[in-house]
Amino acid sequence: MKKIDGKLVAEHLQKELKEKVEALQKEGKNPTLAVILVGDDPASKVYVGGKDRVAKKLGMGSLRYELPTTATQEEVLDLVEKLNQDPEVHGILVQLPLPKGMNESEVLEAISKEKDVDCFHPYNLGKLFQGDETGFLPCTPNGVIKLLEYYDIDVQGKDVVIVGRSNIVGKPLFSLMLNRSATVSVVHSKTRDLAEKTRQADILCVAVGRAGFITKDMVKPGAVVVDVGINSIDGKLYGDVARDVEEIASYMTPVPGGVGPMTITMLMDNTIKACR
Ligand code: NAP
Repeated sequence: MKKIDGKLVAEHLQKELKEKVEALQKEGKNPTLAVILVGDDPASKVYVGGKDRVAKKLGMGSLRYELPTTATQEEVLDLVEKLNQDPEVHGILVQLPLPKGMNESEVLEAISKEKDVDCFHPYNLGKLFQGDETGFLPCTPNGVIKLLEYYDIDVQGKDVVIVGRSNIVGKPLFSLMLNRSATVSVVHSKTRDLAEKTRQADILCVAVGRAGFITKDMVKPGAVVVDVGINSIDGKLYGDVARDVEEIASYMTPVPGGVGPMTITMLMDNTIKACR
C-alpha cells in the first residue's frame, strides 16, 4: 500500500500559494481572509486558529471576528454585509456550526458569491453541479481531487463510491468526480447492502463521521481509499476507515495527515483566487 501523504502534498501546494501571494503583493494586493466565529465552541476555536496560522504562514492577511453566543441573527448578517463591502477583504468564512436558533443558510447565502471561499453559496455549488468549475470549489472535496492528481490516480471511467451525502463533502465530491468522467455512486444510511456497493469501488471515498466504519471486508483488494473522516476519541484522531484496510488497498490516506491538511490549503487557494 502506498500512503497518500496529505501533509506532503499540502506543503508542496502551499509553497506555490506563497509565491502567488508574493506576486499579488508586488501589485499592491494582499489576499485577506476574514473568519467569523460566533459563540465559544472549543472545536471551532481550534479550526479557526488553524486557518489563521496557515494564512499567516503564507503571508496573507487574516482577520478574525468573534461574536458572543448571544449575538443575534441581524448582528451576524450586519457583519457579513460590512465585510462584503470591504475592498480589503477577499474571502469570508463563517465557522459552522452557528449557535442553535440561528438560520445558517440565511447567513451563508448573505456572503457575496465573489467572497464565498468556503463555497457554501448556492450560486457556486450550482455552477459546480452544472460542470462549470470556474467558481469557488468546496475545500475538502477539492482537496481530495488534488491528492488524487498529485499521485497520478486517474478517475476517468473508474467506479467511484462515495460513502456519505453531506453538502460539505459527499454531494460536491460527487459533482467533482462526475465532471472528471468517473462512474459515481453515493451511498448513505438508507442504502441497502452497503458493503456490496463499497466492494465495487475502484476508488472509495468515505465521509461518514464514524471511527472505523469501513472494514477490510467492505473494500476491493487494490482499491484506492480516501478517508475524509475525523473522529476524536479520548484525544486521539481516527478515520472512518479501519487501519487494517491498508493491508489490501493500493493507496490510502492516513488520519491524521491525509485529507485534513488539504482542506485549509484549498481555502487559502480560494482566497488567493478571490483576490486575483
Ligand atoms: P455528516 O454531515 O454527518 O454526514 C454523514 C453522512 O454519512 C450522511 O450522509 C449519513 O447518511 C452518512 N452515514 C451516517 N451513518 C451511516 C451509516 N451507518 N451507513 C451509511 N451512511 C451513514 O458528516 P460530514 O460533515 O460529511 O463529515 C463526515 C466526516 O468527515 C466527519 O468525520 C467529519 O469530521 C469529517 N470531515 C473532515 C473534513 C476534513 O477536512 N478532513 C472536512 C469535513 C468533514 P444520511 O444522509 O442518510 O444521514
